[in-house]
Amino acid sequence: MPPTILRCAGLVDGTGAPPVLDAAIRIEDGRITAVGPAASVASHPDERPEFSDVSPHWICPGLIDEHTHLGLAGDGRSYEEMAEDLDEIMMLAGVFNLGLHLRAGITTLRDNGARNRVGFALREGARRGYIPAPRMYVCGRPITCTGGHFWWCNEQADGEAEIRRAVRRLVHEGADHIKIMASGGGTRGTIPGRPSYETAELHAAVHEAHLFGRLTVAHCRAKESMVRAIHAGLDLMEHAEFLDPDGVMRFDPQIAAMMREAGIWVSPTLQAAGYPTVLALQAKREKDRLSRTEEQLLAAAESRLETRVHHFGLLLEHGLLPRMVAGSDSGCGNLAFGHLDYDLTLMHRGGMTPMQVLESATRITAEAIGASAEIGTLEVGKIADLIVVEGDPSADVSALGRVRAVYQEGRRVHAAPVATG
Ligand SMILES: [Zn+2]
Repeated sequence: MPPTILRCAGLVDGTGAPPVLDAAIRIEDGRITAVGPAASVASHPDERPEFSDVSPHWICPGLIDEHTHLGLAGDGRSYEEMAEDLDEIMMLAGVFNLGLHLRAGITTLRDNGARNRVGFALREGARRGYIPAPRMYVCGRPITCTGGHFWWCNEQADGEAEIRRAVRRLVHEGADHIKIMASGGGTRGTIPGRPSYETAELHAAVHEAHLFGRLTVAHCRAKESMVRAIHAGLDLMEHAEFLDPDGVMRFDPQIAAMMREAGIWVSPTLQAAGYPTVLALQAKREKDRLSRTEEQLLAAAESRLETRVHHFGLLLEHGLLPRMVAGSDSGCGNLAFGHLDYDLTLMHRGGMTPMQVLESATRITAEAIGASAEIGTLEVGKIADLIVVEGDPSADVSALGRVRAVYQEGRRVHAAPVATG
């Protein structure tokens, strides 16, 4: 295979280094062999590289979404309604979702919980080349208590012994990491503001997972579940909503300090606070009158979102910036795939610079999922997963929502249609 050289108006490599204008990147056998100012990335005299110039667009690493549910459609139905779907339909939803994410520039994702073997089968289908898909890390089924959040995925476990057994079963089936539901959530009959496992139970999951070299993730909406996850040594905390049993979110600086001290990764999943609802209703209000119910829905979503974004900013102030991971929770509720950019916009709104947002969604998330040796930055030796975006993503976060082309291991797998006028 001849090497590929891509030239661009500017390149951001994800390491935190300043952008390079008029840059180029050289790719051989799927890996980066040179990157930097275009003049420095030359081909050898005896080779004929495939050359393409994507200017005036920019290049940055492919985005990484730490939190998805591939089997769920993100079409606004409740969990109970979605759980009525056959596994076969969930598989097809997964195929569809993978395409949406890939075309939106997400070249790697984690699945944090699907029913039965849906997550494993999707990963295998992608490995065999049956379906276009981002690189996938899957947990299989999330571990939950009897009747707990996502119980219908079929991995209920109570007490340390059952939890250890659940971890072993999942590892045996091929789990890349272990997900555990440390509090209630949107599943009917569960209480988001209350923890669902004792610290000792969470610790059993962590201990067993680490024995097998697997990282751990906990769903933590309840404040008390956040404390327990930290004590239990979880690697990554999802949501971090600071939710009290009365259903109100109240930031706690002491818990934030504990999070920083523990070095736990945090995936705030900000769009899950109702961002698609806010966007849809605001757009409708532009053209039309909202009904009383819609007005109330919008006001509630806006206020929830504002609180979450504010708390996110406070976490940054408490030193969590280097541990902040990009995750969308796509699939749940009305969180359709293909919009990690929503989270990136909200992270920027919460206080991150566009450059910090980009680093979070590439290098930092790669570190959090244990993949930084191979992906997350555009450096010599790394796998050439990259995207072409319209605009400078180090200065304008919205550029990450304007993906013109997607490359996996140096091969272009998607190009946005060129507008004709
Ligand atoms: Zn989730």
